[in-house]
Amino acid sequence: MSNWSQYEMGPPDPIVGLNESFALDDNPNKVNVGVGAYRSDDGLPYVLPCVREAEKINMSKDTLNHEYLGIAGDPNFVKLALEFAYGEDSGVLKEGRVAGVQTLSGTGGLRVMGELLKKGGHKEIYVPNPTWGNHIPIMKNAGLEVKKYRYYNAENSDLEFDNMVQDLKNIPEKTVVLLHACAHNPTGMDPTAEQWQEISKVMKDGNLIPFFDCAYQGFASGNAPKDAFAIRMFVEDGHNLATVQSFSKNFGLYGQRVGALSIITNDESEAKKVLSQMKMTIRPMYSNPPKHGAQLVSTILGDKQLTTDFIDQCADMASRINDMRIQLRTALEEGGDRNWEHITKQIGMFAYSGLSSEEVVKLRENHSIYCTLDGRISMAGVTTKNVNYISDAIKEVTK
Ligand code: PLP
Repeated sequence: MSNWSQYEMGPPDPIVGLNESFALDDNPNKVNVGVGAYRSDDGLPYVLPCVREAEKINMSKDTLNHEYLGIAGDPNFVKLALEFAYGEDSGVLKEGRVAGVQTLSGTGGLRVMGELLKKGGHKEIYVPNPTWGNHIPIMKNAGLEVKKYRYYNAENSDLEFDNMVQDLKNIPEKTVVLLHACAHNPTGMDPTAEQWQEISKVMKDGNLIPFFDCAYQGFASGNAPKDAFAIRMFVEDGHNLATVQSFSKNFGLYGQRVGALSIITNDESEAKKVLSQMKMTIRPMYSNPPKHGAQLVSTILGDKQLTTDFIDQCADMASRINDMRIQLRTALEEGGDRNWEHITKQIGMFAYSGLSSEEVVKLRENHSIYCTLDGRISMAGVTTKNVNYISDAIKEVTK
């Protein structure tokens, strides 16, 4: 009798599991538009030239070593990461009111935040409906109940802003509400500047705690600093908010696990207390974060020229994706009467296509095109070479 027989076979992960099925598919035309990872127009993984440059600089340093980082990570990285989100001249940073740590990218930061909330007596968290699939198990596994506020209306492929505001108004005070800072995943629909202002006011009036997930800074407008607009506006409005940052997509550092979690507190002494609890949460989970990727980001954000290069290179990625949106929409509308306007209206890495789960399965089984069951297509995987193949297949499964 095995000691491990109580473990049942679990289902594959709805997003990452697609990579495994894709790898086993021997169709030469197969396309992976499941996981949100940027590809060049040749369909290949892309290393930003500024990252290659930073690698060279770091490798040539005599001081390079592989010692442990502290529990909170590399302090220089944390400083630069927080300035990247809140702005170099941010008052809250200058006042020492922000508790910040380096995390295992966005996912790790979310989990640390979930644990910290639980520790602080929070029982629930609100997320948009829909949201990135992993938000729900991350927060549930941290012991929080996950509740949803309305966000997107699939009928007309648009934000349901009035319903969103109404739901926010009904959330009990001091509850944490997760917001996507920009390039909402999976819908690609963000509130306008005016709508963000209203959200900020409603949350302030309701004494709610904003928690920004910033995983695509640079992929919304194509201008990385500008994409932190909503976070910075909320800070200006006086919210003591929290932010989790991922450097996976914008810096193309997916496998390096580079991220940061920060919480704005009332004053420096409160920030120190919160930081101590963050560290106590992290130490028994994974002790300390990895070094390499964080040092690449620090080298780039700590150098004016490399930062300019990064902003340009990130804009180039966003621009290729936008071109693909136009080409995909045009190809889909050729000879058909279905409306695909939402493909170009949406922003960021994903097109929330509106395909049903049955249509998605047909795409996979008949055409070896892999996207998530909710019809989310990673536009970062669409290229000039496969765009017609994808559009023909979509037309075929939707006819
Ligand atoms: N948050 C959102 C909204 C995401 O889409 C993702 C990745 O897809 C993440 C967080 C976390 O990504 P990572 O753990 O690679 O930073």
